[in-house]
Amino acid sequence: MASKKMRDEDSRPNTTKGRSEEDMLSERRRKVPDIPKGATVISPSKTDKKDNPQATHSRGKYVPCQPPTIREGEKVETIPVVWKVVVNDTQEGGVAHPGVRVESTYDAIYPPERKLSNPHWGYRTPIDPSGIIKNNPTIPFTKAPMPRYVLSDATIYGNMDGNIAKYVRNTNESLVAAIPFGAGNELYENDPRLLRTVETFLKSISRNEERSLTISPPAAEGKPPYRARFAKPFAMMIQGMSTGLKTALLEFQTFAFRYNETPYALFFVDPAALTVSWIICNFRGGLVTDDREGMSRALEAIVQRLLDLPMARGTANELLREEGIGRDAEERIHMAISSLSLTFINRRDTHGNHDPVWQLQGRPMTYDLTRHRKWLRVVRQTTYIIGGTARLETEKKMVACVWCKLETHASENCPFPDTRDWKGPPRGEGFHEPEPRDARQSPKAKEGKRGKKDKTKSKGSKGTAGDEGHETKSVDDH
Ligand SMILES: [Zn+2]
Repeated sequence: MASKKMRDEDSRPNTTKGRSEEDMLSERRRKVPDIPKGATVISPSKTDKKDNPQATHSRGKYVPCQPPTIREGEKVETIPVVWKVVVNDTQEGGVAHPGVRVESTYDAIYPPERKLSNPHWGYRTPIDPSGIIKNNPTIPFTKAPMPRYVLSDATIYGNMDGNIAKYVRNTNESLVAAIPFGAGNELYENDPRLLRTVETFLKSISRNEERSLTISPPAAEGKPPYRARFAKPFAMMIQGMSTGLKTALLEFQTFAFRYNETPYALFFVDPAALTVSWIICNFRGGLVTDDREGMSRALEAIVQRLLDLPMARGTANELLREEGIGRDAEERIHMAISSLSLTFINRRDTHGNHDPVWQLQGRPMTYDLTRHRKWLRVVRQTTYIIGGTARLETEKKMVACVWCKLETHASENCPFPDTRDWKGPPRGEGFHEPEPRDARQSPKAKEGKRGKKDKTKSKGSKGTAGDEGHETKSVDDH
């Protein structure tokens, strides 16, 4: 390993003066072949660009054709294409998540409509495309930029009444789902006026009259688990609004306001137009630190393993071929790993101990959830060894925030209440985890709660939702 790195260092062009730590990491290159002396490197992808991190910004011009080849005399040899891991910290409100990601020229092969940047990162500055939102509504709301709101399919459809879920998935009507901050069985039970408040708010901000607005509370397929507070389903369904208002709600995503002295926040998504989330899985355990060197090593190990794994190659080849993207198995596995990233997420366990995770994300190769799950299974079920002796431990429990429902931070770090001029509710005190998925019997329910047996062994949530937390869809906001 060490000698390989040395070789990598040596084979680099002499452009390394005054490098920052980030550059050092970014230049960590893999699979650099021994190029025989006097050999000609034929590369349609301009290898000098790959060596220079700055040059990757002009990636648009790169026309991916085939992996670079070496010609030595009569012999032509294909070089495995170079990829590297670069530092990629992300910011969610006031919370910084240290991170690393793969940078690969193969990312450029995705057609333009699939070349979205990671939807889980960054901010959303509300704009009103239809001009329907009043400038000074009677109920003022927070207008500052907020973290993007990207939900999973399971979050929207989890434990939703099967018939309703079917209707919602298939309807072309103007239907919008609204998830209140801190949604769950308790919130809806404790605030019977919630629906009316939402209606009043929507009417107050719209220039249109919104006469035919109807709002349905969430209807559960199974009862919430014993003592649940944040049990699914979360979303109320709003129908009959003007197209302008629907567009504006989906564009703004988050509204925080006060009504009758009570703070509210609502997140709006289009349940019929969810795209597949980039979250793949989480890792926990002793290896998980916010040290970017360590994260780089882990991500390199993951990528290398997937590149070598026949199952991964086969699945990537199959999925991308069905999408008509890429030309051969080699190209497609490189595309599959080209957008992988690892993000450090701070978290505590029930005892208040530090229990952070690394979250692996990557661009979905298909928007078909069933097919996408094939890839998720391959990545999740694979064992990753770092440096020969350390094994990455998969975290089965999902990371999710009980307040906003995003899966990119723990409840205690929900970034929304830190938004400038936040008019919505604060984060609740204490330790909170998402309730067991859907209404299935959870290990907790088995363990110990005397009293009620869990009658809710999910028969019904089949067909309504992705069951596995991470197997997610998200709102595509591009
Ligand atoms: Zn949150």
